[in-house]
Amino acid sequence: MENWDLIIIGAGAAGLSAGIYATRSGLKTLIIEEKLAGGTTSDAPVVENYPGFAHIAGGELAQNMVLHCRKTGVTIHELETVSALKLDGEEKTVTTHKGEYTAKAVIIATGSHYRELGVPGEKEFRGKGVSYCAVCDGPFFKGKRVLVVGGGNSAATAILYLSGVVGEVVAVHRRHAFRAEEALMKDIASKTNVQVFLNTEIKEVKGEKLVNKVVLLDNKSGETRELDVSAVFVQVGEDPNSQIAREAGVEVNEHGYIKIDIYQKTNLPGVYAAGDVTNHPVKQVGTAVGQGITAALEAYAYIKQPYYRK
Ligand code: NAP
Repeated sequence: MENWDLIIIGAGAAGLSAGIYATRSGLKTLIIEEKLAGGTTSDAPVVENYPGFAHIAGGELAQNMVLHCRKTGVTIHELETVSALKLDGEEKTVTTHKGEYTAKAVIIATGSHYRELGVPGEKEFRGKGVSYCAVCDGPFFKGKRVLVVGGGNSAATAILYLSGVVGEVVAVHRRHAFRAEEALMKDIASKTNVQVFLNTEIKEVKGEKLVNKVVLLDNKSGETRELDVSAVFVQVGEDPNSQIAREAGVEVNEHGYIKIDIYQKTNLPGVYAAGDVTNHPVKQVGTAVGQGITAALEAYAYIKQPYYRK
């Protein structure tokens, strides 16, 4: 059993920022991450709205954060999955598939996972042409026609990235307009190898060993057609990774996002949450960083009870 001041679960933008501030404040801090450190920022083709970086690949920005965090002395355990939490009471216990740890405070920064479409063929062809990460899988489709589904910022950034990597991008969105930033939509309009179909839904992914077509529905005219594509990039939002926290008594809202106050406090004393797993209405790298910082400083105040916070 290892004892820590603070355990942060998740090494994305929120968790890493919390780690930097916690360690610099003097807390003995452990971050536990089930994948590799960096979080979903790593999957962003390009980030153009994180202050100080007019244009940076998501992977590079994420790795800068990881390096910075390690440099401050945070211990990061990668590829370690948290299986249970005990968060009531003064001493918190974090159980993973490798061991058990205790801490005086815990920050939950477990982020979110990609939402699925739920159409026939999606599960069957996952990894065989159906992808949720344009940066990871786009380069496999050089010169090919691919489909992007979704109408938010994720879909827009994926369209832009893929337009520079594959032959042709067809984008479909179920509504009459995207909800992505205007700057992104202007860039998309300037791309000659991008076609956007609005009021269009994907009904099925088809193929043999690999994806080779999709069935599309024009939800205005009611017409259905098939389109030859080599890949389908699903970019339809995300759902929070809050299950383990929920099972430990942390309150979530009706969509499963952890409820926090302006200090990132959850309903349990000494338990904080930050980033995409929370019910904060804005999901950006910058807001995740800010939430992580607030959570770390509040955890510090909770543990050390400094005179200026009494
Ligand atoms: P999002 O903003 O929630 O948008 C999801 C899109 O997918 C919506 O257009 C939605 O359609 C559509 N959709 C949802 N379920 C669908 C389904 N079953 N079939 C077809 N379409 C479906 O999600 P996101 O784009 O992944 O972004 C998540 C958060 O991260 C947002 O807060 C976003 O601003 C942020 N983000 C920011 C950036 C950036 O600033 N550059 C980049 C990426 C993500 P409706 O419009 O009909 O609901």
